[in-house]
Amino acid sequence: MSEYFSNIRIGATTIATGLAITLRHFFNAIHRKGDAGIDDADYFKQVDGLCTLQYPREAVPTPALGRYRLYNDIDDCIGCGQCERACPIECITIETIKTTADDLAACGKTSQGQQKRMWVPVFDIDVAKCMTCGICVSVCPTECLVHTPVSDFSEFDVRNMIYHFGNLSNIEAEAKKKKLAEQQAQAAKEKAAAAAAAAASGTAPAPAAKPPADEAGE
Ligand code: SF4
Ligand code: SF4
Repeated sequence: MSEYFSNIRIGATTIATGLAITLRHFFNAIHRKGDAGIDDADYFKQVDGLCTLQYPREAVPTPALGRYRLYNDIDDCIGCGQCERACPIECITIETIKTTADDLAACGKTSQGQQKRMWVPVFDIDVAKCMTCGICVSVCPTECLVHTPVSDFSEFDVRNMIYHFGNLSNIEAEAKKKKLAEQQAQAAKEKAAAAAAAAASGTAPAPAAKPPADEAGE
């Protein structure tokens, strides 16, 4: 019989303790109304009363070193493809076109002064697949690929989750490809003509001069 009443006492005490905790959080939440302290440095230590944020007016702050949505500053991208090769789930797609000599100035330099030698008509990141592991960011030689603090980028249509950073339109890319192909065909033709002339005169054609270190991308 005494055990029966003991169990009732323990049950009542447990319920009262739970209600007290709930009420404490409830009243603390009222005091917090309108200010969840999201700008406070010790935000994550403030647990009392922090029940529900009024999203999207309030949102959990992103930590300074957090890895969130990717962004590529295409003006600094040299189209090396290292990020694409490093991505473990293949969510980066890059297409490049070699720059012709007369287009180098138009292609421009990175903010660090490195001459760019590739047009990058396609630089797509499927952020719906991206697991924000950061490997692509760590291998980028120009540090143009970065994580941003943007953590909420949901979309109704998953196709909108593919982000395009390319620096040429389709029409421009086709024109660049055509120009490059023409120049390569012309160079091959001249090389063949030089070889034929050398063969006719009985002299070996002079070896092609090694391009300057900068031009060779060294
Ligand atoms: S963060 Fe990771 S998963 Fe996302 S694109 Fe970069 S390498 Fe791929
Ligand atoms: S690693 Fe960096 S520079 Fe190279 S293609 Fe990727 S984003 Fe561009």
